[in-house]
Amino acid sequence: MTKITLCNERKAKPDFSKLGFGKYFTDHMLLMEYKDGKWGEPEIVPFKPFEMSPASNILHYAQGIFEGAKAYKNDKGEITVFRIDDNFIRMNNSARRLCMPEFDSAKVKAALFDLLKLEESWIPTAKGTALYIRPTMIADQEQLGVHASKIYKFFIILSPVGSYYAHGLEPTKILVEDFYTRATIGGTGEAKCMGNYACSLMGGEKAASLGYDQCLWLDAAEHKYVEEVGSMNMFFVINNVVVTPALVGSILPGITRNSCIQVLKKYGYKVEERRISMDEVVEAANNGTLNEAFGSGTAAVISPVGVLGYKGKDIIINNGQMGPITEFLYKKITGIQNREEPDEFGWVTKVN
Ligand SMILES: *Cc1c(COP(=O)(O)O)cnc(C)c1O
Repeated sequence: MTKITLCNERKAKPDFSKLGFGKYFTDHMLLMEYKDGKWGEPEIVPFKPFEMSPASNILHYAQGIFEGAKAYKNDKGEITVFRIDDNFIRMNNSARRLCMPEFDSAKVKAALFDLLKLEESWIPTAKGTALYIRPTMIADQEQLGVHASKIYKFFIILSPVGSYYAHGLEPTKILVEDFYTRATIGGTGEAKCMGNYACSLMGGEKAASLGYDQCLWLDAAEHKYVEEVGSMNMFFVINNVVVTPALVGSILPGITRNSCIQVLKKYGYKVEERRISMDEVVEAANNGTLNEAFGSGTAAVISPVGVLGYKGKDIIINNGQMGPITEFLYKKITGIQNREEPDEFGWVTKVN
């Protein structure tokens, strides 16, 4: 059993019908500290601000990583998580890439389950809602000079969430970014590390200023091949074949991406993981074979793309409507998550 320090008073709950994304946090969090070459025990403590030195190395050199997962509760009060082991595997991969210490994921998972049980009243039950789980690891040594830290904090905070995009499942408008880049081969694109997101903000702001929801990143070397969207992997349906960029090192290996591929293959769809050039996408749009496009990620699950802005023109996909394969995946994956569909891939774990 995890050591628990309870908060003095629980916060008033927000209106669960107007949650938005990542705005509210529960009363407690998980905290674990690394020093003298080893991790301490994970503990549950009240959610409150950290005290840290202005010289803490996370504040200067961004040696930090995070994850995103979701917990669900049904009307019987049963709490479940979706593919959480894969999040901890990926977090340890990110830790290695950022020269941070790996942690014992079985121990952290057990402590997370205790935290979820304690925060049970924060898990919304309505369709499309969940309790977002944000595991985070930061360097926290008081030290200037670019070296791997010797002191780290690992924490997990929880946030009840509704839909990620303001307009829910409406198809999004995405701007293809052909100047700024997110990640390069040999860089940190395949790690969920903090610096990647600071670097992506400019592309996102540019897209927003031109009336788009997000930007689509292309490869850094040639600005020719599709990589991914801000926090989503990208899929196209071309001539009834589902194509997604191969994991070449600069792309985040999304767990939702992997779930889509497994579901599609099992249900007889043709899936290809390979390089996709914007030339190919434009050509498919021009000759009528670009059937659908969508993004995948924990936050939005599946997000249909209705418009791709590229070189000053808008490519309209499937008349700006969600396509049948996109809808099938959305229903299947959210159905498994909400336990309305059988857990045929063994992705759901019971917490209580
Ligand atoms: C988290 C993330 C994704 C999606 O990964 P999931 O495991 O499906 O949530 C895709 N791209 C980037 C850049 C991300 O940070």
